[in-house]
Amino acid sequence: MGIIVQKYGGSSVADTTKIKKIAEKLSERIKQGNQLVVVVSAMGKTTDNLIKTAKEITENIVPRELDMLLTTGEQVTAALLSIALNDIGIKSKSLNAFQLEILTTDDFNAARIKNLKVEKIENLLKEFDAIIVTGFQGITEEGEITTLGRGGSDTSAVALSAAMNVDCEIYSDVAGIYTTDPRIHPNAKKLKNVAYDEMLEMSSLGAKVLHSRSVEIAKKYNIKIYCGSTFSDEEGSFVVEDYLEQPSVTGLSVMDNQTQVTISKLPLDYTLVHDIFESVAKHGLNVDMISVISNSGLNVSFTIIEDEKHNFEKALSDVLKDLPKLNIQYHSGYSKISIVGIGMRSSKGVAAKYFKALKDIPVKLVTTSEIKISCLLEEKYKNQAMQSLIKIFDL
Ligand code: ASP
Ligand code: MG
Repeated sequence: MGIIVQKYGGSSVADTTKIKKIAEKLSERIKQGNQLVVVVSAMGKTTDNLIKTAKEITENIVPRELDMLLTTGEQVTAALLSIALNDIGIKSKSLNAFQLEILTTDDFNAARIKNLKVEKIENLLKEFDAIIVTGFQGITEEGEITTLGRGGSDTSAVALSAAMNVDCEIYSDVAGIYTTDPRIHPNAKKLKNVAYDEMLEMSSLGAKVLHSRSVEIAKKYNIKIYCGSTFSDEEGSFVVEDYLEQPSVTGLSVMDNQTQVTISKLPLDYTLVHDIFESVAKHGLNVDMISVISNSGLNVSFTIIEDEKHNFEKALSDVLKDLPKLNIQYHSGYSKISIVGIGMRSSKGVAAKYFKALKDIPVKLVTTSEIKISCLLEEKYKNQAMQSLIKIFDL
């Protein structure tokens, strides 16, 4: 009982039949005595199609105008769902980010929520039983419209939950969170609970379950997230701070299109390492899986996303142009496979098992954290590696 924030993803609201079905489900929850704040995504592939349309005009889309365009998608869904609810006798009102004053930074296409006034929703809930909110969007102090990055509706929902201090339910086509992608591995197991830290690793590692910013907010404000299926009653998964009986490894995720950059035989001067990463940062680029090895000289290597190779060539030539004999190599066509689990903190032998599973595979680079082991390998070994990791860790 009480107020609940829910979110419905794009495929759940792909057509009016589905929207009407969701309205029926919401009406049942309301009749049980709840009031609902419902965050919606754009219908089906709307966001992709809007981007495609803009690209018919130019590849150089002004970021501010892209946000003007993309935010239309969510507004359509919010209005349609509210129309459907009113039609079946539920008092409902839809609101966009401008009306709700969801304040964000001015980083168009990747804005972060700064502040969110919930008094307006709380007042409206005296009169309405359902408030439908456009996901994915915000406004700046200057009243410019922004978006939170692809998949950002999750973040809108969790931010609203945090501001109102209520539970959050996120609905999509997939009932819950699995040990690995169930579309690729039909035997993947559904997890009853996932810890925030595991989820953060998994979403940044290529598991596309929740927008990672939404998990950061949930962790910070201790908001329990339920991930369930929109149209089936199948039990979903909870994302929580901690849970009992953690297995050592809870999940496996994969990121393709990885390129390894190797800079070998740098002079033994660590300020160069700093200069390299400072230039990378100045160019707004991200690196992962860093290794710095010193023997006769310094060897620096890190991974990047294949598409960014060109930008890296520029960033690196900016700093290293005075070292003409330097050898910089780019190896593309790699995948990164990671296993994640907060149980790793307290279990022994995880690394031994990991390397046993990968003993026949030439691994290029390995990095670890307290709750994760990642390795880089040629894409052609990906399936073999995944199968044997799934087997050994019983995922
Ligand atoms: N419609 C946006 C997207 O497709 C936001 C979302 O679905 O969360 O990325
Ligand atoms: Mg989504």
